[in-house]
Amino acid sequence: MEQYKLNDGKMIPQLGLGVYLIEDANELKDSISNALKDGYRHFDTAAIYHNEELVGEALADSDVKREDLFITSKVWNNNTTYDETIAAFHESLKKLKTDYLDLYLIHWPSEGYQEKWRALESLYNDGLVKSIGVSNFEKPQMDKLLTTAKIKPAVDQVETNPYFQQKELHEYLTNLDIAHEAWGPLGQGKGAVLEDPTLLKIAQAHHKSVAQVILRWNIQRDVIVIPKSIHANRIAENIDIFDFELSNDEMLAIANIDKNQRGSENPNDNDWLNESLNMK
Ligand code: NAD
Repeated sequence: MEQYKLNDGKMIPQLGLGVYLIEDANELKDSISNALKDGYRHFDTAAIYHNEELVGEALADSDVKREDLFITSKVWNNNTTYDETIAAFHESLKKLKTDYLDLYLIHWPSEGYQEKWRALESLYNDGLVKSIGVSNFEKPQMDKLLTTAKIKPAVDQVETNPYFQQKELHEYLTNLDIAHEAWGPLGQGKGAVLEDPTLLKIAQAHHKSVAQVILRWNIQRDVIVIPKSIHANRIAENIDIFDFELSNDEMLAIANIDKNQRGSENPNDNDWLNESLNMK
């Protein structure tokens, strides 16, 4: 497994398992146990996924040592103050049955994010979280955060797939030495991108699947990926990407299929951000 060095010196496995929308106890436990067997060590959850408790149980039941795991969670938007953020973090720790997190993220740039960042800095300084970062921050929100931040985020987790490559944001983050982490790398399984003809051709040339080509493309452009699946065969397929390499021409061909087409919520949509304050 490739490891990626964050700007705080910590290492993150460049591929992990996302567990968004896996709420069924057996499904989640099986997914995590299959993933661990296949070599996954990095797991991405969030308070709003309502599955931290199950993730914690599945990881605690495994024989993999805590120090060999990389666990990410995220503070949800309904926590808008310093104190609420600290309390939300401790709630996540308790549910995940651990005494520290590897990475804690501000889930969206919603109300109070500068204040919330101050809380993450304090958790980091207290050693309760090894790395801190943000999610769904684009240049305007990151620029604003950096005016008050004492610690630079290690990671920005944003929607990224071959039809929404985030090229400008990628360059901006690279210049700041903030790691680009891709959520929804497979286009959230909604179709189109997994049937793209350019990707299909490249996949056939390497005897790999389109999903594997997409994940490999991310690895080669220094992006961290957290594909989700509940199926044992796909969980295994998604990590089987470290035995082939895309050529420069193939990387370029993929760069050219970008449609700059967002598939999910827009972090610049203030109406949505305000509505999200009421979601729990
Ligand atoms: P994804 O792009 O990982 O797509 C998952 C879907 O792709 C699966 O449900 C399945 O339908 C399909 N799939 C998986 N493996 C496949 C394969 N090998 N072949 C064909 N189809 C396959 O979407 P996601 O789950 O939304 O994103 C990944 C993770 O990112 C989440 O689980 C979560 O941890 C995180 N995430 C974060 C945010 C955020 O706001 N920070 C938002 C969404 C997701």
